[in-house]
Amino acid sequence: MNCPVCDGRSIGKVGVEQFFCWDCCIEFSNQVDKVVIYNLGEDGSLVVWDDSLMNMEQTAV
Ligand SMILES: [Zn+2]
Repeated sequence: MNCPVCDGRSIGKVGVEQFFCWDCCIEFSNQVDKVVIYNLGEDGSLVVWDDSLMNMEQTAV
């Protein structure tokens, strides 16, 4: 299991099929057909990572 964002291996398990990446401080969960990525909000809540933002960054580079 590698982080879907940075491909790192600093992964901690935080729940059932739910993991935390120490490198980019995001959580992600394995679902049936995809991996859902969450950002940790300032108040500790989980915010779903917006895929379109990542695609825009990749296009810009
Ligand atoms: Zn990561």
